[in-house]
Amino acid sequence: MDNCIFCKIVKGEIPCYKVYEDKDVLAFLDISQTTVGHTLVIPKEHFDNLLFCPRDLLEKVMHVAQSIAQAQVSSLGAKGVNVLINTNEVAGQTVMHFHVHVIPRYSNEDALRLEFLSNKIDKLNLPAIAENISNKL
Ligand code: AMP
Ligand code: ZN
Repeated sequence: MDNCIFCKIVKGEIPCYKVYEDKDVLAFLDISQTTVGHTLVIPKEHFDNLLFCPRDLLEKVMHVAQSIAQAQVSSLGAKGVNVLINTNEVAGQTVMHFHVHVIPRYSNEDALRLEFLSNKIDKLNLPAIAENISNKL
């Protein structure tokens, strides 16, 4: 994609701090380091986001994400890792080229805040919600 910043990184038109590369996948440091070692893993081919990434390629991207998470723990001394995929603007996606954030965690006082995961919405029909999702798989 001509106007895509990550496609430009793949083509070498914009520099990056490369962490890993093979014929399908590229990983590089996020320019905005949420924590030290925050890495983005992308397919070299352009897909807007998770919803459009073919499964075989998704598997390759996630394999690399796992390896990077392991290296962050073994080499950087991270005590844990958050793997994050923002999908569409409403979910915070700002670069519309599918990418996986691999964010090493050194302490739960890090810049990454996950309190939203424990928000509670009351009075939901959980069986109906589960069935709605399940029916589309
Ligand atoms: P998201 O909000 O999930 O779309 O994440 C996009 C990420 O791309 C942000 O964390 C940015 O800091 C990062 N980013 C944007 N431009 C660059 C760049 N040229 N090199 C590395 N990371 C970038
Ligand atoms: Zn792209």
